[in-house]
Amino acid sequence: STINVLVVEDEEAILTLIQFTLEQAGFNVTGCTSVEAAKPHLLEKLPDVVLLDWMLPGTSGIQLTKQLRQDQRTKDLPIILLTARSDDVDKEMGLNLGADDYLTKPFDKAELLARLQAVVRRSKGHSNSIIRTGDVEVNLDTQTVTVGTKTLHLTGKEYGIMELLSLRKGSTLNKDQFLNHLYQANSFLHLPMKS
Ligand code: CA
Repeated sequence: STINVLVVEDEEAILTLIQFTLEQAGFNVTGCTSVEAAKPHLLEKLPDVVLLDWMLPGTSGIQLTKQLRQDQRTKDLPIILLTARSDDVDKEMGLNLGADDYLTKPFDKAELLARLQAVVRRSKGHSNSIIRTGDVEVNLDTQTVTVGTKTLHLTGKEYGIMELLSLRKGSTLNKDQFLNHLYQANSFLHLPMKS
């Protein structure tokens, strides 16, 4: 079924680019330039995932994340924060406040899609979290890779490579895309699952 994404980003050029990229990939996208404009959409119907800019005029992305986590109806809503900052302290703060993942601008289109798919799969539970390619199974929840009946012993980065290849199965990926996935994702994709 179609995945509904709510994007909140005040820079119109970036919003348009994200919207175009996601629509091309088959997502159903609602774009807003402020939290105030996004609120009616959130009340009407919850999206599958929210892509939320950190710095917004009016209510910030961080403030909205806090509000959504405090509300029973939206406490488990998947949120990916977008930011121009690359500071690790900020990343930690965003994740501590309850964001599921984090993307630093400028980000690569393939990385955006891979991260969205990973967050949506995780939020939908186990049935969608295993990607099979021949004998190889990548489990996005337990972050393990099995070949046949054998579980591989992988480092975090080795797992990250397998994860990206599985999420983007059928695509040609370049070196930068691997680096983006491994070093942007790093600490986030390997966080323990929310129960
Ligand atoms: Ca902004």
